[in-house]
Amino acid sequence: MSVDQLSTTNYQLFSDYHTHPQGHRVQRYTSALLQPWIDSATKFGLTDIAFTDHDRYHAGIDFDEIERLRERNPQLRVRAGIELDNDPVHSEAGRKWVEKHWGKLDFVLGSVHFLSRADQMFDSVPVGAEQFEGRDVDAIYADYFRRVREMAATELVDCLAHLDLVKIHGHRPGSEIGPIVNETLDLIRARDLAIELSTAGWRKPVNELYPGDRIIELAIEKGIPFTIASDAHSHVQLGDSYPRLAQKMAAFGIRRVGIYDKHQRVMRDVRVESVL
Ligand SMILES: [Zn+2]
Ligand SMILES: [Zn+2]
Repeated sequence: MSVDQLSTTNYQLFSDYHTHPQGHRVQRYTSALLQPWIDSATKFGLTDIAFTDHDRYHAGIDFDEIERLRERNPQLRVRAGIELDNDPVHSEAGRKWVEKHWGKLDFVLGSVHFLSRADQMFDSVPVGAEQFEGRDVDAIYADYFRRVREMAATELVDCLAHLDLVKIHGHRPGSEIGPIVNETLDLIRARDLAIELSTAGWRKPVNELYPGDRIIELAIEKGIPFTIASDAHSHVQLGDSYPRLAQKMAAFGIRRVGIYDKHQRVMRDVRVESVL
């Protein structure tokens, strides 16, 4: 066994900080909706998960139900979270909801799903790809990362989700990504925010982790912390592709991930000490 394989097998990725119990519609948080997520998390060896439904479905979120879930499942840390979006129609209400419930929330993800069109998330697969057709991809990248910086500056988020989501349909900028993301990463660092390593990118047309390798390198250089996430829209997707993610993390020497309790980040080691 090589050193790399050895270190990979010693990774225990115990957290998943991007999950959608409601899927893509408002569903009230009930034990029937949430308990399967707990059961799957436990089955997959996770011990710390955050529910981060889209802000447009905030009417379904019930903090009392989350509290009851915690009481019934002491083996698992369940974090109350939300994915705050840049939805031009719904996210103003979403921002107000986050402000109002900030003290009850453990973790807020910030996401950019909308570019110039208000009626369609650009990351809809496959239809969102039409927003790139015949357009200047470099200009779209610049616009996307400007919107990410706006999100990072709201003071309402703990972590940026799928930082390079703009690549989802496989469109690449004409020049190196480093200078394109530098200002954004500097702002994230200055605000002491985290970014996520999201395996969802491996399920999309681009077939690449969010973010890509160069952005991970730059984030490490700048000292930006990472969370790990699947962006599961079904409980069976929890921890999706984590063995592959562990390999990637081992290759980059990433040994700690962020967990959150009432927006306070603690970095936890994901390696299992060898007992040999
Ligand atoms: Zn998202
Ligand atoms: Zn999501």
